[in-house]
Parts: sequence; C-alpha cells; structure tokens
Amino acid sequence: MYDKLFTPFYPRVWVQSAYGLPYEKMADRGIRGLIFDVDNTLAFHNAPADKKARELFFHLHHLGFQTCLLSNNKEPRVRDFAREVDSDYVFKGGKPGVKGYQKSMEKMGTDPKHTVAVGDQLFTDIWGANRAGIYSVLVTPMNPKEEIQIVLKRMLERPILWAYSRSHAKEPFGAGRKQKGKVRE
Ligand SMILES: [Mg+2]
Repeated sequence: MYDKLFTPFYPRVWVQSAYGLPYEKMADRGIRGLIFDVDNTLAFHNAPADKKARELFFHLHHLGFQTCLLSNNKEPRVRDFAREVDSDYVFKGGKPGVKGYQKSMEKMGTDPKHTVAVGDQLFTDIWGANRAGIYSVLVTPMNPKEEIQIVLKRMLERPILWAYSRSHAKEPFGAGRKQKGKVRE
C-alpha cells in the first residue's frame, strides 16, 4: 500500500555514492547526459571541489558524457564548483520543479531518455528527476552532520526509503545487489 503513495519519491536506484556508479555501463546503454546535485552528493555542504571530484568529471567527459550541475544553491557556490570540474551548471534550480532539469538538458543537448540525474534528497533531487521523466539515482548523503531543517527532511524520507527498500533490491545497470544493512539503520 505504501508504494502508491511513495512512488513519486522513489529513485530508480539507490547507491552509496556518486563516485561509485557504473558510468561505463551507462555510456554503453546510450546515456549521454549526467545531471548532478552538488551539496552532499559530490562534496560536503559548501565544500569546494576536491581532487576526487575533478578526476571523476575528467573521466566522465573522457567517456563522452555531457555534465551539468543542478543545484538549488546560489550562483557563486555552483559556479565555482562547476569551474573546478569543467561542467555546465544551473544554480537556484528550483528542484523539485522540472524547469531546472529541462534547462540542464538544454545545456547538454540531451533528452530525458538519454539523461541520468544523481542526488541525495528525495523531495528535491529524486522527485524532480522523476517528474522530468529522467532516470533518478539516489546517493547516500556524504555528510552525516546536517543542519536541522535537513535532519527533519531526512526523518520524512525515512518511511519512504524503508518502503522502497522492501520492493527494490537491485543496483543499477547490473552492478549487483543493494546492501540491505544501509537501508534499515
Ligand atoms: Mg544535496
């Protein structure tokens, strides 16, 4: 019964980290554009892009992906991060509204069928991607210490993730089974 209520917030897949996704397989399957949330998806909240982030994007561009950062954060934050990883970006993206996703795809020259969106929050990143018809990937937030309003949102996410974990077992693109221990903390 939960499924109907929660489905809009269900990611297509749930993985540990944006840094461990099977990007080669995505490329093989025709994915051309990658949309990334920034805070707690690629780096700690307001932390600059580090070597790991720069290397990931270098690798992604080498694989032929277009990339776009889509964040609800302000321009300086998103612009500076984007500059470091050499990516397109959309700031104040209005997630979970669909416009930011459409703008991101316009910048990349892709469409929903050939785009994947990666983020750490159900009520912004995942809901928005689902509404835009884009394959949604949920990652576990990088920073366990979060501001109070995010902690509250995490509490609201919890029953949805619990229901999701009961009905979805597989990781994306044949990457293996989910670790169930992560789900029921
Ligand atoms: Mg985030």
